[in-house]
Amino acid sequence: MAPVDKQLVVFDFDWSMADQDTDRWIFEVLAPDLRRKMKTLKDEIQWTDLVAQSLREAHARGIKREQIENALRVMPFHPAMARGVDNLKKTGRTTFLCLSNSNSVFISTILEDKKLTHIFSEVVTNPAHWEGELLTLRRRVDPSGPQHSCTVGCSPNMCKGEELEAFLARNGQEYDRIVYVGDGSNDFCPILRMREQDLVLCRSHRGLQQRIDREGKEQGLKPKIKYWAGAWEVEEIFDTL
Ligand SMILES: [Mg+2]
Ligand SMILES: [Zn+2]
Repeated sequence: MAPVDKQLVVFDFDWSMADQDTDRWIFEVLAPDLRRKMKTLKDEIQWTDLVAQSLREAHARGIKREQIENALRVMPFHPAMARGVDNLKKTGRTTFLCLSNSNSVFISTILEDKKLTHIFSEVVTNPAHWEGELLTLRRRVDPSGPQHSCTVGCSPNMCKGEELEAFLARNGQEYDRIVYVGDGSNDFCPILRMREQDLVLCRSHRGLQQRIDREGKEQGLKPKIKYWAGAWEVEEIFDTL
């Protein structure tokens, strides 16, 4: 791809930048029965609320902050992804934005461990903080206040399409190209708002690809799509941007 003067790279985090899902992984490592319970309850309780509740249950049974942090540090994260984003950042033409349904503590713990805290200009996600050994988490969008007005099927809490547009508006920058790296069905909304000169790096065989296949044409999806399976392929593409 031809290099441009100014580009924005938007990253989903779970299964996109990282090679696992933070919310599920820590319970798989530390409390598989809570992981099972989350799977059972996920259609009844909003996801971020369910993670917050599971963190309280983990705390009640004595699971410590250090255990959660260690679980995050050993979560699969491909070295080629770390190298690819770091090299692209060094060229100086690229702004990075993270749009994630995980939370600020999970993401920052992993970015610190991988020495990538300098990458993102902004991490848009659910706010979390440690209260002693308890990780307290809440939805980015307060459930008692106004909710997103999106009609393409975004679940409650974050609409990544609205979040992307809000970032572009508050940033006041024009980008020659936007590159979106994502895998999930909730990454479909933001890519619908992208232009013909933009690029989607879609992880193969997951929710985003299914939505592109089923709804892309009827919704008038404009950006170019490239599919990838391993982070080394993202690095390969980043080296050309
Ligand atoms: Mg994801
Ligand atoms: Zn949406």
